[in-house]
Amino acid sequence: MVSDLSVWSQVIFIVGEITVIVILGVILFAFLLVGISLYSIHRGRPFFPRFLKAGMVLLEGVARVMFRIFGLEDREVLTFFIQIQNAINKGPFEAVPVEQRAVFFPQCLRSSRCPAHLTPEGLKCQSCGQCSLGYWRKVLEQLGYKVFIVPGSSFIKRMVKKYHPKAIIGVGCLTEVKEGLEMADKIGLIPMGVVTTREGCVETDVNWDDVMEVALLGIERSKIPEEVRHCLPA
Ligand code: SF4
Repeated sequence: MVSDLSVWSQVIFIVGEITVIVILGVILFAFLLVGISLYSIHRGRPFFPRFLKAGMVLLEGVARVMFRIFGLEDREVLTFFIQIQNAINKGPFEAVPVEQRAVFFPQCLRSSRCPAHLTPEGLKCQSCGQCSLGYWRKVLEQLGYKVFIVPGSSFIKRMVKKYHPKAIIGVGCLTEVKEGLEMADKIGLIPMGVVTTREGCVETDVNWDDVMEVALLGIERSKIPEEVRHCLPA
């Protein structure tokens, strides 16, 4: 009986030791993760993006708490998640021919007086001139992109199923882009995210230079149609 108790107390002691080691390991790992993240944010580009991404997936909750302790808002953390993802995907995205890429814009970018109708493939923009979507949609299509203006992620999934793009650009608010990048990752697409500069449900905005910077990745200037070249950022 006495020896049974001593075996049990030894087991409990070992389990306790392992638990403490695991907790210390998690805390150390989280510190390392947050340290590299803060340095990356300070330098404006992600260092060791694959390590950061794996760490964030494993320890997202702990890392968020620690980011808050270091004074970072959720918004900054989400922006950083997206930068990491974009940094990892940039190379593979560049390698995909533009004909196998698609761009998804949220319908909140359109004018509140938009005359376009919703179809099973999203809004059919009439390039009426009341918002920038009409102009840049044409530029992107001339480059070879499939362009969709959609009200939600269910349209994205449907269009991906129908047209099988290999790489996509998702434009949206921070949360939409983060969730979209994760969804695209899961279904084997190479996603790049661009966050809108003004959030909301109507007449939001995006920096078109940011969109085009991503859209032009991997496309040689000489291969850009003449009629499109003059529309592009310098
Ligand atoms: S340009 Fe296209 S998306 Fe913008 S308001 Fe006109 S029809 Fe709607």
